[in-house]
Amino acid sequence: MAKRFSTIRYAEAMSQYIPYGKQDINQADIDAVIEVLRSDWITQGPAIEKFEKIVAEYCGVKYAVAVSSATAALHIACLASGLGIGDILWTSPNTFVASANCGLYCGAKVDFVDIDTNTYNLSIDELEHKLVRAEQEGCLPKVLVPVHFAGQCCEMERIAALSHQYDFKVIEDASHAIGGKYLGKSIGNCEFSDITVLSFHPVKIITTGEGGMLLTNQDDLYQKLIRLRSHGITRTSDLMQEESHGSWYYQQLELGFNYRITDIQAALGASQMQRLDEFVERRNFLAQRYHQLLQDLPITLPWQHPDTESSWHLYVIRLKLEKINKTHRQVFEGLRQTGIGVNLHYIPVHTQPYYQQLGFKAGNFPEAERYYQEAISIPIYYGLTEPAQDQVVTLLKQTILCN
Ligand SMILES: *Cc1c(COP(=O)(O)O)cnc(C)c1O
Repeated sequence: MAKRFSTIRYAEAMSQYIPYGKQDINQADIDAVIEVLRSDWITQGPAIEKFEKIVAEYCGVKYAVAVSSATAALHIACLASGLGIGDILWTSPNTFVASANCGLYCGAKVDFVDIDTNTYNLSIDELEHKLVRAEQEGCLPKVLVPVHFAGQCCEMERIAALSHQYDFKVIEDASHAIGGKYLGKSIGNCEFSDITVLSFHPVKIITTGEGGMLLTNQDDLYQKLIRLRSHGITRTSDLMQEESHGSWYYQQLELGFNYRITDIQAALGASQMQRLDEFVERRNFLAQRYHQLLQDLPITLPWQHPDTESSWHLYVIRLKLEKINKTHRQVFEGLRQTGIGVNLHYIPVHTQPYYQQLGFKAGNFPEAERYYQEAISIPIYYGLTEPAQDQVVTLLKQTILCN
């Protein structure tokens, strides 16, 4: 780990280094943060509501709740959905560990649905088969967390139909996907889900440093999420279980957390939202350009479902190893050595040592495992210039084709 880090630092020092993802902060972002720093409220102030309103309006959803990270958002989304001990959560094995860990935080069991060969999202056919079996065995999930991998939306219409048939809740992990579309409408509108979760980590589409958000159209979920974000406390007298003692009074109704975001971060987020469409447009342009420039290489390019418009958080190629004289690892590390900060999304969650302790084994989800043997995320971000992208293409060709 330390060694890999120092390799990246070395390449970075060589000034050739091109990361796989990077935030873009402009003067307006900096000014917005400074304005909050000079104001009376640096947390629990008006910048948070303003940020929530901007995102809710953009996504076409009724309610938004900003929190300290998408991981925190996934945790309270599960709690608000009633997930607890004895319940089951299903998600994709091809995701960041947080999409699964949120179920374990609640004392629930976690299981996975293998991925689709083309989209790398969880496979709806697999989901259907697994639901039929689970119903027979009496172990249906209470919550499904579909992950919009790389910014491409899952087939939400089919997921929603299955959620009605089998009575489970749907929490979309849209950490990659703000600015993307499904059936012509913004991801995050919750038309086919109960809650959508966003991440504002610096590698994602817009950033607040650390930060996340929950989106929902359901009033009762919204009230619960607001409380869970801040210790389970309410100051609304209508919700109190005893008469108010006075204007200082608050009540803790359940066991919540401090998962609040600061006004400083929210101001950055609101400012970043002004450029969201520009960010996604640029990513889309770079993706189309990669499609052109890479089409003759022995690799599989990212396939897009016709119902979706990706936000292009990631550009993932898959090596056709039978046509390449190198191993996956050799290509990956060769690229790192040339200063291209490639990455791998994702190590299948069920193969992590912690999940193996829970009983999962290599071989459980073969499609996700096969994908992991071949996948490489190559650089894509707003500030990637065309000459830099050309350099990525040149070095990729050399690394794959030359010995
Ligand atoms: C980044 C990410 C998360 C976690 O986001 P944080 O804001 O860093 O907590 C969860 N799920 C997916 C799919 C992610 O990419």
